[in-house]
Amino acid sequence: MTGALDGFSVRQIARGVAAGDFSATEVARASLDAIARRDGEVQAFQQTTEELALAAAGEVDAARAAGKTLPPLAGVPVAFKDNMNLVGTRTTCASRMLASYESAYTATCVQRMLDAGAVPVGKLNMDEFAFGSTTDSSAFHSTNNPWDLTRVPGGSSGGSAAAVASGEVAVALGSDTGGSIRQPAALCGVVGMKPTYGVVSRYGVVAFGSSLDQVGPLGRRVEDVAAALNALTAGGRDRHDAMSQDCAQDYLAHLDDSVEGRTVGVIPALLEAAGLAAEVRTAMRDAEERLAGQGVRVVEVDLPNMASSIAAYYVIASCEAFSNLARFDGVRYGYQEPGHATLARQTSRSRALGFGAEAKRRQMLGAYLLSSEAYDRYYLAAQKVRTLITADYRRAFAQVDAILLPTSPTPAWRHGEISDPAALYLADIYTISNNIVGNCGISVPVCLGSQSGLPIGAQLQGPAFADARLLTLARALERASDMEGRVAPAFAGRGGELA
Ligand code: GLN
Repeated sequence: MTGALDGFSVRQIARGVAAGDFSATEVARASLDAIARRDGEVQAFQQTTEELALAAAGEVDAARAAGKTLPPLAGVPVAFKDNMNLVGTRTTCASRMLASYESAYTATCVQRMLDAGAVPVGKLNMDEFAFGSTTDSSAFHSTNNPWDLTRVPGGSSGGSAAAVASGEVAVALGSDTGGSIRQPAALCGVVGMKPTYGVVSRYGVVAFGSSLDQVGPLGRRVEDVAAALNALTAGGRDRHDAMSQDCAQDYLAHLDDSVEGRTVGVIPALLEAAGLAAEVRTAMRDAEERLAGQGVRVVEVDLPNMASSIAAYYVIASCEAFSNLARFDGVRYGYQEPGHATLARQTSRSRALGFGAEAKRRQMLGAYLLSSEAYDRYYLAAQKVRTLITADYRRAFAQVDAILLPTSPTPAWRHGEISDPAALYLADIYTISNNIVGNCGISVPVCLGSQSGLPIGAQLQGPAFADARLLTLARALERASDMEGRVAPAFAGRGGELA
């Protein structure tokens, strides 16, 4: 097998390496070459890790030469969001605060990908500390949407989505606190999965909102994402993350099962919401029909408290962010501005210079919301809303296997087009409630918009720990689209040849 690396699925790469069609070193070089030829325009990467990649690939090739059975992701190029620790790299969270922070240990999610034979080619840009949905709040540079470089890739895992969409890597990891895997996946035309809270360990991933954060994979096919989830869950529970559960199973096994007789819920009122682009509405109706065409029963459900989810999320997430980011004081962690007479002055100046505007906004909001004056009115009220939304989902999932809804109200917008933070928060309406409840969710590219020509993602949300069933439905949606495996046209086949 030969051709551009970006034409291969994760399993095809691993099988090709195992069969000796090409070596892991050749694959690593092809990925690094694709990055060299494409990332000048896309700017998905914070750093590339050629040495680590060639060392890991060399180990795979040596294992094969020694006649060993290769692990399932042997030779597959992978890159990680820059809030994930990997020894030998900086973990910056795209913040000046951590600009020179060298990973002291390797995150469990990263280690599990490496244990499965994947080859680390770099660390990916993001919104600072994962606050945002554009990747424009990175302290270092913006990332461009591979489908249209004048547009945002979404965020906060925008680097992860853009690296996959441009074919620089086969698969990437992101984190999702309120939509940060699914929304950039939708805007870049790739698959992005937020597994159920607890499925993937967060040990070694810089915390944002600890009751909401979840790590997950992005890839160009549902199959690629499932293959990564196998690796992420192999080995079961991670005792370093108290919320982690044993979710090891073969997520590839049932992907192509028939979905006949499954039930999917839709929420008609959501499709009438102001702000939903007409082409997204059309795409959602098509998605419904495609599922129905495969024997899925589509029924109406209601999540009556969903409208309150944005307010509840931004209260809870900001409070948790405030408490998690307190450690960046320039003494224990983070940038230190020298030359101040008192510790208080040093801390205050270090934080003022280390954090960007959105990170400051979230922390100030969190500090106020947790004050005695505001706690009952906002934080406690948000927790009550959380209980109501959880009950809404429980009722809905008594009737249906999954809920189909948009991922983002619009396709990718231009850099700077939405600058009001409140307007950006509102665009999270379809993804946030999933994190509030801790369920699983996935975004699948279903078409190119009839007006914009940009990718549109449909989202499926499933009950907690029904991740494998969700993947089967996602695969059904993918099967009926012509988006599977697509690399953004401007970058497809540009460099990255496998000899
Ligand atoms: N856009 C949301 C926010 O800004 C979600 C971010 C995320 O999931 N990390 O908080």
